[in-house]
Amino acid sequence: MLKRVVVFYLVVFLTVFTAFPVHSMFDSVGRSVEEAEENNLEYCEGGSEALCFGSYYKILPPTSYIHRLVVPDTIVIHTDDQSGKTPEKWVSSRTWNGLAGREDGGRSVHFGVGLDGVGQFLPMYKEGVMQCRGAGSLYDSHSIQIEMAGRTYNYLVTGEASPEMVDSIVAITQETVDLVVVLMDIYDIPIENVIGHYQINGSGKTDPGNLFFEQYFLPLLRERIAKSNQQSNQQGRLSELR
Ligand SMILES: [Zn+2]
Repeated sequence: MLKRVVVFYLVVFLTVFTAFPVHSMFDSVGRSVEEAEENNLEYCEGGSEALCFGSYYKILPPTSYIHRLVVPDTIVIHTDDQSGKTPEKWVSSRTWNGLAGREDGGRSVHFGVGLDGVGQFLPMYKEGVMQCRGAGSLYDSHSIQIEMAGRTYNYLVTGEASPEMVDSIVAITQETVDLVVVLMDIYDIPIENVIGHYQINGSGKTDPGNLFFEQYFLPLLRERIAKSNQQSNQQGRLSELR
């Protein structure tokens, strides 16, 4: 048994080691520190080259994800299907439990967003992120994935959502959009590559809701990006004047 454990860790170590040679690992530490400070990011516990984006960091069980660092060029948005009857209880800790509790090898995403804030569930670094098991390996191998707590977000657009549901969807979307803006910046991901799970061919999925995503989420995201571009232009002009 011990021998198998040792071999397992040796394989994990070698995989990571060969993907990121020593010199680039040290480079990444320096750069990540700068990036983190520039963007007011907190370090993951233990302080390392890892990046932390959420309000808390709680890693999923090792069986739920692929132990390989991948370079993300896409962000996939999901909803996790928590009960529509209790939107005031849509929380990311429940998302974590749902993913961790699976027995068939497990599922995973990088973030859960709920009324309790943003939870980061997998290790992330400037050069790459741990590969999740969220939307099939074709997308998992180059994406960051975010699970928003709740379901039927389309109701926000169709007018079928109760006041409690509207409050929850608006609050969770706001948090998610804020997170996406930071991730797009750090990993240099264009808005065309921010997609809903339903857009993945053959997935058979409808989350997070096409109407919600196209008529509410993306316009909000565009607005946020325009605003932050405007701010950085203003800052640029101010520093030119000085
Ligand atoms: Zn999904």
